Amino acid sequence: MAFALTSSSSSTAISGSNFPRSTSSSDLKVPQIGSVRLAERHATVNLSRRRCAVKAVNADPKRNDSIVPLAATVAAPEVLEKEEAEDFQQLAKELDNASPLEIMDKALEKFGDDIAIAFSGAEDVALIEYAKLTGRPFRVFSLDTGRLNPETYRFFTEVEKHYGIRIEYMFPDAVEVQALVRSKGLFSFYEDGHQECCRVRKVRPLRRALKGLRAWITGQRKDQSPGTRSEVPVVQVDPVFEGLDGGIGSLVKWNPVANVDGKDIWNFLQAMNVPVNGLHSQGYVSIGCEPCTRPVLPGQHEREGRWWWEDAKAKECGLHKGNLKEDTAAQVNGIGNGAANANGTATESDIFNSQSLVTLSRTGIENLARLENRKEPWIVVLYAPWCRFCQAMEESYVELAEKLAGSGIKVAKFRADGEQKEYAKRELQLGSFPTILFFPKHSSKPIKYASEKRDVDSLMAFINALR
Ligand code: SF4
Repeated sequence: MAFALTSSSSSTAISGSNFPRSTSSSDLKVPQIGSVRLAERHATVNLSRRRCAVKAVNADPKRNDSIVPLAATVAAPEVLEKEEAEDFQQLAKELDNASPLEIMDKALEKFGDDIAIAFSGAEDVALIEYAKLTGRPFRVFSLDTGRLNPETYRFFTEVEKHYGIRIEYMFPDAVEVQALVRSKGLFSFYEDGHQECCRVRKVRPLRRALKGLRAWITGQRKDQSPGTRSEVPVVQVDPVFEGLDGGIGSLVKWNPVANVDGKDIWNFLQAMNVPVNGLHSQGYVSIGCEPCTRPVLPGQHEREGRWWWEDAKAKECGLHKGNLKEDTAAQVNGIGNGAANANGTATESDIFNSQSLVTLSRTGIENLARLENRKEPWIVVLYAPWCRFCQAMEESYVELAEKLAGSGIKVAKFRADGEQKEYAKRELQLGSFPTILFFPKHSSKPIKYASEKRDVDSLMAFINALR
């Protein structure tokens, strides 16, 4: 992580390159940008004696792309090491009555350069204000889906100028957007739901961003969506996404305004004279992509302005899917009967699409399992396309398949939900989705991958140990 900071009694300036730690090939597409400059230090709080473990090594007072990647890295290893043993459930209880400022301060103190604020361009600008007030360096990233309102793009720029920061924008994969739009058109979400488009334009870019972090900060509030956000804790181990170290549990999610009412956020923004998105004055409360967001009437809940043509229960774009419970939890654990989603098969498009991957039919995997001697070993994922953990490992599994192409090891997938589930449980050790099996060359018995680390390196280590 490139990082530089200077400090004087009146000003603090930092700059840092974005999400550069990961070395997987997919990360090469990630923009290497990002800087923060606090024009005035408003550090009126002293919530902790221990301040951020970032040393002053360089100055970057101007907005200048050319010098950002040259900045030097300083992170505090001892701070990062401490996180591993932290009980975040307990911490959430301790901080439940803390102010957003205290929570923000704690988050930035703990994670320093490995945490970033997810900024949507709405009233979550309050997070940036709180971060500024801590006096600590901080990072901000935004997902540019390509479908935002012009007002939101202008607002991003205004926020950058107001805080003297560089927002680290994340963009969707151009090839994926192209495939979606060419096959289904620009407004397919009105026909078959927003999940597919959101997955391409939001969830996957977010996943890439988070893979370079150990923690992130969101503007989720309990009052935003009674159906899905009513139990949002102020801090939690992210139940869906992976962080830098890979695997479920490698990322911490902070929600400093979880307990704050929307009206109190607005009072705060007004009191601090914070710039706001021009769409708010046109009746927009929740702000997202232009085709999927509309103003709400007085008395209407803000989430009624999002994906209004869909069932209210489904109004998460995938960024905070961990909030979804009940029937979806059964799906995620692979223990539900799938009825909630027509055997989990009706509305989701398939995943793990790559020419380097073999798609096994029921007959195909039965044959594979029967063979005593195979020409080559196989690795097979048993998956369900609606399972968020399967979705989370999609990129790494496809990358694995591409790496192993021509190596003598076959990489395959078998869709094991719906009517295949009983067979997979009985014959293929399916416990939950995804289940990864290695079929050695000279044995009919597949070996189950036990770890939850599903990054390419971990999967390669598994294969290399058995091939
Ligand atoms: Fe696509 Fe709408 Fe989701 Fe934006 S909010 S990514 S336009 S479905």
